[in-house]
Amino acid sequence: MTASLEDIDAKVKAIAKRNPVYSESTQFVGDLLSATVQAAGNFSPPELSFDLGQLPDAWSQGKSFLDPKDMPLDWKQARALYKQLVELVKESKDGPRQVEGLMQVLAEDEDSLFKLMKAALASDIKTMETAARELAVDPPVLTLLLRLSMRPALLEVARAAQNLLDLSQWNHGHCPVCGSAPKLADLSGEGGQRTLHCSLCETAWPYVRLQCPFCENDNRDDLSYLRAESEEGLRVDLCGRCGHYLKTIDLRELSGPIIVPLDDMATWHLDLIAQENLKENKADKSRTI
Ligand SMILES: [Zn+2]
Ligand SMILES: [Zn+2]
Repeated sequence: MTASLEDIDAKVKAIAKRNPVYSESTQFVGDLLSATVQAAGNFSPPELSFDLGQLPDAWSQGKSFLDPKDMPLDWKQARALYKQLVELVKESKDGPRQVEGLMQVLAEDEDSLFKLMKAALASDIKTMETAARELAVDPPVLTLLLRLSMRPALLEVARAAQNLLDLSQWNHGHCPVCGSAPKLADLSGEGGQRTLHCSLCETAWPYVRLQCPFCENDNRDDLSYLRAESEEGLRVDLCGRCGHYLKTIDLRELSGPIIVPLDDMATWHLDLIAQENLKENKADKSRTI
């Protein structure tokens, strides 16, 4: 379900109350997100040619429904939305430092932005980081802007695909619609069933609780979790085998819905805790060898 303007506003307020250190950045991401919701009507509907005959076998064996690189998107509107988001960055506190580089992509030939959007779709972090360095823009800002420019189209494609799929039949750790990795998890209901949320198209799908979605390891000795001190409802699950982690929001303690770009930004401290912990564990391991 797509978060409405009211959902975004409520979440921005709840995060500011929970963790005031994020109030400014949350408001900023909330404004960008609201612009994506308002722009959704300008995007022409995606032309999807689903081959349903092929679906059950390949899909249940773990082949995602679409390849994000071939995603049919309204590029013209995505470019227009990018332009609009850059204007919002300009008005933000830290904006002027970033804006020149973000504008430069638009000034270059049409292909520059198109290529970067394709890199964002393919989760090609290296290409985006190199571009960000050349443009003197913080890499997370460029990645966020690229993804948000395509967000209305991505959500629409995901919604159409979800209508055709029974997500309870999917038991893999990557997104059933676009194949991208999960960005967040939530726990809900009795016993705390786990749901994963795609980093790209924001599709949510159920996944077993005691298994790493990145390497499918279910050996409990390798799975652990950390909590930030005195923070109800937030934790990060770690996998000692593959070294990945996943931030988790317990919806029995914090109110939903999950809005991936906002909840991801407002749990940045968990990324730091997880990365630090995984680094220490690696160092410990190398010491004991
Ligand atoms: Zn996805
Ligand atoms: Zn793992």
